[in-house]
Amino acid sequence: MVSTDLDKTNFVYDSKVEGNIIFTRVDAAINWMRKNSLWPMPMGLACCAIELMATASSRFDISRFGAEVMRFSPRQADVMIVSGTVTYKMALAVRRIWDQMPEPKWCIAMGACASSGGMFRSYATLQGIDRLIPVDVYIAGCPPRPEALIEGLMRLQEKIDTESSMKGLKAEPEEEVVKGLEIGK
Ligand code: SF4
Repeated sequence: MVSTDLDKTNFVYDSKVEGNIIFTRVDAAINWMRKNSLWPMPMGLACCAIELMATASSRFDISRFGAEVMRFSPRQADVMIVSGTVTYKMALAVRRIWDQMPEPKWCIAMGACASSGGMFRSYATLQGIDRLIPVDVYIAGCPPRPEALIEGLMRLQEKIDTESSMKGLKAEPEEEVVKGLEIGK
């Protein structure tokens, strides 16, 4: 056996068993698949969106991380990249699209405007998208370069790696069954 500590390594293999067999945890396998197939919902709202578009080009090649499949349908996306100034006029539309994305889902706030309102301390601008939706990774810059977005994506991959992929999948007992048990006490 090369390693027996699944908590530290995620994958081990047993050299005494013939054939190509590896052992892993369900959590580790699901997280590995999730983090390497993130499909972005490009929420380009201002100048930062140009850098977001550049990230998908051959020079930077976001497909190395399995994240090149930009989806314009929220139902097919699992990471929203908010890039640009979020005005109050647009904010609720962003929130509606976020609500339409299926779980599990993550959010990257790209640039100063999406993270904090940036230089626009005005009545028309939301002071950070985290006031409306939970943000997993913030990327500094005005605008951040594509390399910074890729760095943010890698940070998100690290975060997904530590999540419990089975969380929330436990079947809740039927309400009637619970009530019946309480009556039977
Ligand atoms: S952070 Fe800078 S580049 Fe990005 S949307 Fe705001 S003003 Fe434009």
